[in-house]
Amino acid sequence: MTSRNQQLFERAQRHIPGGVNSPVRAFRSVGGTPCFFQKGIGPKVQDADGKWYTDYVGSWGPMILGHAHPDVIAAVQAAVVDGLSFGAPTEKEVDIADLLCELVPSMDMVRLVSSGTEATMSAIRLARGYTGRDILIKFEGCYHGHSDGLLVKAGSGLLTFGNPSSSGVPAGVAENTMVLTYNDPQELAEAFAKHGDKIAAVIVEPVVGNMNLIAPTQAFLNAMRELCTKNGSVLIFDEVMTGFRVGLKSAQGLFGITPDLSTFGKVVGGGMPLGAFGGKREIMEQIAPLGPVYQAGTLSGNPIATAAGLATLKLIQAPDFYENLTAKTKALCDGLVAAAKKHGVAFSAQNIGGMFGLYFAEKCPGTYDEVLACDKEAFNRFFHAMLDAGHYFAPSAFEAGFVSAAHSDADIAATIAAADAWFATLK
Ligand SMILES: *Cc1c(COP(=O)(O)O)cnc(C)c1O
Repeated sequence: MTSRNQQLFERAQRHIPGGVNSPVRAFRSVGGTPCFFQKGIGPKVQDADGKWYTDYVGSWGPMILGHAHPDVIAAVQAAVVDGLSFGAPTEKEVDIADLLCELVPSMDMVRLVSSGTEATMSAIRLARGYTGRDILIKFEGCYHGHSDGLLVKAGSGLLTFGNPSSSGVPAGVAENTMVLTYNDPQELAEAFAKHGDKIAAVIVEPVVGNMNLIAPTQAFLNAMRELCTKNGSVLIFDEVMTGFRVGLKSAQGLFGITPDLSTFGKVVGGGMPLGAFGGKREIMEQIAPLGPVYQAGTLSGNPIATAAGLATLKLIQAPDFYENLTAKTKALCDGLVAAAKKHGVAFSAQNIGGMFGLYFAEKCPGTYDEVLACDKEAFNRFFHAMLDAGHYFAPSAFEAGFVSAAHSDADIAATIAAADAWFATLK
């Protein structure tokens, strides 16, 4: 008998390319049939066959309070009855802008959008408009959404300009993006030495969550800040994933760096389509209608999205919220590492706040090349064993994982026990 997941996936492929609306959902990397979810409560999600899983994806980060948190649902329900969209200003936009600028000290002003992609795309246009320069620096393995100028891989030689990493991206667009090595301050300094007066911006994931989890070195972040200041380039921290995920002040607070612009998404909307970008007043004042850099959105600052965002941002300010979340996430990582060690499996794990990385390698990777060297086949077998046992991890060895405030110690212990049982079979 075919499962309902399989039936739905077959049906989905008739009218949706690959059966999914975002590629990693298709399980191409791990193989098998994707789970269609029908319900989530706290740390658990239920698939179309009625099977429950402990969820370590959390919609790729937004669900920091767990699924269907009563306060968030109540805020959304209260907002819905007053109308879904006006295309005109509403009070909740002002409330969330005030709160974002209060929580993130580097932001004097902020603009709301509907996705992380829009936030990064707009921040880059703004940085170019503000500096009057074209060149953008990004780092290999970092993901900043799917706008043309960011779907770029490194060129043939060191410090050459990029090539499109997706079909459909004009070479001319990619040529303005330079792709450098993450955690390599020397290479960054060389790029500035060569092109400094033409570099509009550096965009970076201050903790990378899109090539599994890679922690930044403080020297790398410091060098980036100093080089941007010295050369008049805009430093953009893409905190779409790390924002309100690694700490209340986000990664910039954790590492003590003040970026010129920051982008947010994921947690900021509490599961609704909401993104934001903001920063220094003199830069933000260049956006229309104040300035010449155009940026707009029919649904920007949507009242339902801001309701969910505000309810989420309120709860994460509870005392010890991040201490508890970080401790829980660390307990998961430590428990998995101990279990693997007991059975002699080459495995490592680390967390920063409520995000974590799991690696089939002796030690945690610090660069893109080291991530690529991890045992991907071992991860895929781990993924399926855990899925069978009711623990839902990201369906790719190149994604970070997420713990929510709703995960209990017992949930985490059960996941570690399931991993322990699987590691034992590898001998
Ligand atoms: C998810 C993500 C984005 C893109 O956000 P979307 O809402 O998927 O468009 C951009 N940057 C980073 C760092 C992300 O993790």
